Amino acid sequence: MLALTDKFGRPITDLRISITDHCNYKCVYCRTGNDGALYADLPFADYLRMTRVLVGMGIKKVRITGGEPLLRKGVVEFVRNVAKLRSGDGEPLDIAITTNGHLLAEMAEPLKDAGLQRVTVSMDAVDPDRFARITRVPGGYDNVLAGIRAARRVGLWPLKVNCVLMRGFNEDQIIPFGMFAREEGVIVRFIEFMPLEEDRVWSPKTVVTLDEILHRMSEYRPLVEIPHERSETARRYHFDDGVGEIGIIAPVSHPFCGHCSRIRITSDGKIRTCLFSVWDHDLHGLMRRGASDDELAEFIRGVVQRKEERHHIGEPDFVPASRTMVHIGG
Ligand code: SAM
Repeated sequence: MLALTDKFGRPITDLRISITDHCNYKCVYCRTGNDGALYADLPFADYLRMTRVLVGMGIKKVRITGGEPLLRKGVVEFVRNVAKLRSGDGEPLDIAITTNGHLLAEMAEPLKDAGLQRVTVSMDAVDPDRFARITRVPGGYDNVLAGIRAARRVGLWPLKVNCVLMRGFNEDQIIPFGMFAREEGVIVRFIEFMPLEEDRVWSPKTVVTLDEILHRMSEYRPLVEIPHERSETARRYHFDDGVGEIGIIAPVSHPFCGHCSRIRITSDGKIRTCLFSVWDHDLHGLMRRGASDDELAEFIRGVVQRKEERHHIGEPDFVPASRTMVHIGG
């Protein structure tokens, strides 16, 4: 089958599939303080079929996300089934999960045994009180720390810890996270805050930029940039003594849309071609109407042709995405 490529010549090799938009945290940069999800979850068999069709079209990396994916009963079995899929060249897929880590301590080993290779844990402070202020849920910090350590112990590697920096909440955590990366032997990645939150508090001033992160971290220890693939979203650094890796994902101040290789499926089975899409495409609706795998593939190919060239964050013509992050799957 022809490789999946958009009209700008970007190969689409990376799938992010959300398996629920429920979440047990209410992070200030993501959700409102209210409970609840918007969309019903689909059966895992449907996510598996969508994934299988996309893998047949050239997807090599599958990231399972949400909402909070570990809340969903059956996720371990889903990982096991995804791990059985083979890309066109017969190679095993690169399978990862993005999680808030709350339930990871008990699930790291079964997930690893099921075929998960890597995990990214979101953690926005290395201080329990600050952590609770950001997640808007009491407690949790110890669970997440235990989850990170369990993931490391069972060999879910490379282990990345993602921290979204939001001015007024956690920009003073930059140096503590530098220390954390060195002490825990994990890759800490700072992410610039994007206008994808439910509370609609984003403004350029709330973004802690790559330049500011580098400047603040240099007050602790010098960082040395690591050469990276052009398609990598993160700029990578290690400290001058070679201990501790830091990544910075800077979609606002240094966009990387030109190398975007991603397609997303939401928990209700819609395709999104960009985080900032103002529409989505009803793949699951087509499945419900009895489409064959070939018809699904043809639909996907047409949708990918409409993938946006780039986002317009901070520009006068910026139009907010039609969904917030928790309902897309980050
Ligand atoms: N619940 C899981 C978690 O916490 O990692 C997966 C879903 S969460 C929506 C996925 C990622 O999106 C997390 O790393 C989170 O920090 C990031 N994220 C959410 N809202 C964001 C925003 N407004 N700007 C930048 N990153 C955001």
